[in-house]
Amino acid sequence: MGRRCAFLRLGGCNLACRWCDTPYTWDWTGIGDSGVAYDPRTELRAMAWEEVLRRLRAYAVPMIVISGGEPLSQQKRLVPLLRALAGSGHRIEIETNGTVTPRPELVELVRFNVSPKLAHSGDPESRRLKPEALAALAAAPGTAFKFVCRTPGDLDEVAAVVERFGTTPVWIMPEGRNREELDRNLGTLGDEVIARGWNLTTRLHIAVWGNRRGI
Ligand code: SF4
Repeated sequence: MGRRCAFLRLGGCNLACRWCDTPYTWDWTGIGDSGVAYDPRTELRAMAWEEVLRRLRAYAVPMIVISGGEPLSQQKRLVPLLRALAGSGHRIEIETNGTVTPRPELVELVRFNVSPKLAHSGDPESRRLKPEALAALAAAPGTAFKFVCRTPGDLDEVAAVVERFGTTPVWIMPEGRNREELDRNLGTLGDEVIARGWNLTTRLHIAVWGNRRGI
């Protein structure tokens, strides 16, 4: 956290978390907490991978983070871009919800930050916890599992997921779409996360800039 990087955000998601803070990447009907139905014709832009590469390289940063939406939904089409970025010495991380099994080419090129969703996301368990995908991601070198939590009860649910799927190392990130929520949940969870022997993180972009797009 805190390292210089450029972000590539891809559209589309196979889940529909009610508290999602990037609903403009997938919520075309207004089913999320915001109730806003975003227009894909406004929010999404098709772009050739060569153009994406040119723009990412222009940031002149050592690390690229690919997020979404769910970026692994487009993983086959990502391969040429990832190969080119790796060829120019970039470290590449992909943020995923852990429901899609990564292709072997990706496992060689990137590190995965996996964020399995808990019951409070509102997604049914059969859609948010995919054993085969979680096993493949857990076996990939350098993978970290990050769980968004609000209450100590959420931590019990995380423990059950870890026990069932071997999803380690564990990072706990407090939910918070603004500074107030983030501070409150961080304070509520901090001591117990440490007592459980897990890692605690925050949402640095919310702490610094608040709930803004494009950062
Ligand atoms: S998986 Fe991520 S992008 Fe998709 S709905 Fe949930 S929080 Fe939003």
